Amino acid sequence: MLLGWLREWSASLFSSDDNETTPYLQYVLLFQAGVSAVELYLDWRQRKCYELKYIPKELEKQVKPEKFQKAQNYGKDKNTFSILSEVIQTGVHMTLFATHSLPRLWKYCSQIIEKHSFMNSIPAELQTTLLFSSVLFLGNKLISLPFRIYNTFVLEQRYGFNKTTGKLFVKDLVTGTLISAVIGYPSLMGLWYVLELSGQKLWLYFWLFTSSLSILLALLYPPLIMPLFNKFQPLQDQKLRQEIEELATQVGFPLNKIYVMDGSKRSSHSNAFMYGIWKKGIVLYDSLLEQNKDHDERILAVLAHEMGHWKMKHTQKMLLIGLLHSLVLSWSYGKTANNESIYRSFGFDTKAHIIGLLLFSELLTPLDSVLSLIMNFISRRFEYSADDYARNMGYSSYLIEALVTLHLENLSTMHPDPLYSLYHNSHPTLTERIHALEKDDSETKKNQ
Ligand SMILES: [Zn+2]
Repeated sequence: MLLGWLREWSASLFSSDDNETTPYLQYVLLFQAGVSAVELYLDWRQRKCYELKYIPKELEKQVKPEKFQKAQNYGKDKNTFSILSEVIQTGVHMTLFATHSLPRLWKYCSQIIEKHSFMNSIPAELQTTLLFSSVLFLGNKLISLPFRIYNTFVLEQRYGFNKTTGKLFVKDLVTGTLISAVIGYPSLMGLWYVLELSGQKLWLYFWLFTSSLSILLALLYPPLIMPLFNKFQPLQDQKLRQEIEELATQVGFPLNKIYVMDGSKRSSHSNAFMYGIWKKGIVLYDSLLEQNKDHDERILAVLAHEMGHWKMKHTQKMLLIGLLHSLVLSWSYGKTANNESIYRSFGFDTKAHIIGLLLFSELLTPLDSVLSLIMNFISRRFEYSADDYARNMGYSSYLIEALVTLHLENLSTMHPDPLYSLYHNSHPTLTERIHALEKDDSETKKNQ
């Protein structure tokens, strides 16, 4: 029955006939309510795990009772916050659609443009698109602002993570908005012209444009945008530098530069990452170095894991999957772009490219949730194999130490609910990783 219904749904979605009777808006609202209900149920399951009073067996040795309780409290507070923001933000989102507020906003924007056409060389629809998108963008920022303030200055503050000052918060907000404008307006204009001029092959040009844009942004983000928010300094610790260089030579990793990033100016959460296409840069958070002082092997273990990702071409594989995914989406968008009944169902009496895209992305909500499940599954497989790579290099016990330290310092969840974790996490849980690393370890010993 479900399959038949899905077939009917996709057939009506992809037709360009004016099918007055398909209530797309109602379907979308129903789907979104469904997705929210599932997510709230998972939140509730995870919440119950924060009530548990015992330390998981795998962590008994490393975790002190006070630290465990602090992590449980932090998790519970974050859970409350996430439920509240989920309910409010989804509520606002659904109300906007259910009350046909967006068609009214679009109409209002086009009236303003008609009255004072600001730039005569730019088509009126494009001008309206820019105005409409700006209002939506700013509205969205405004709604999420109280949540961001609460998260940074109340929740993170309470557990000693927040290092952001009010001044830095405002500066970040302004810089972020300006960068969005500098990147967003030209991209939006480019996209509009692509959609306007590509005719029958819309899906193909749309796919080419959006894929190249996202690859370009991913490449430019670390060297051009990140330095606007953080300082990057070459690693000073000569001993660690030499050890990292030796590790890189050992695995044939094309190491370019090693930087330390002042992550601690905003938060004491720690991390490390790599960037670059041919030559790779390594970035270590200063907080990571601080937390693993005099334990260089742990940092090397983390980097061996990262080099495992590189060796097994995980980034390229993810990129390929991403490109295929967006190809399917672009093709489907090409099929729905002319279906006028979708526009009418959402209360729009005019067809505009940006509206088509907006409604298409709403129609995709249920599919997106399923796809993110699959992506998380693939990502978890990759994490296991990168751990395995580090283990084969002899870093198994150091990697466990590093992961436990990272987990404790970040007060991450000690008792993850299996279903919650399956849906939300792109990484296996700490205990799952320890199990895999230790299991493999004992097997290697047996085989020796
Ligand atoms: Zn990884």
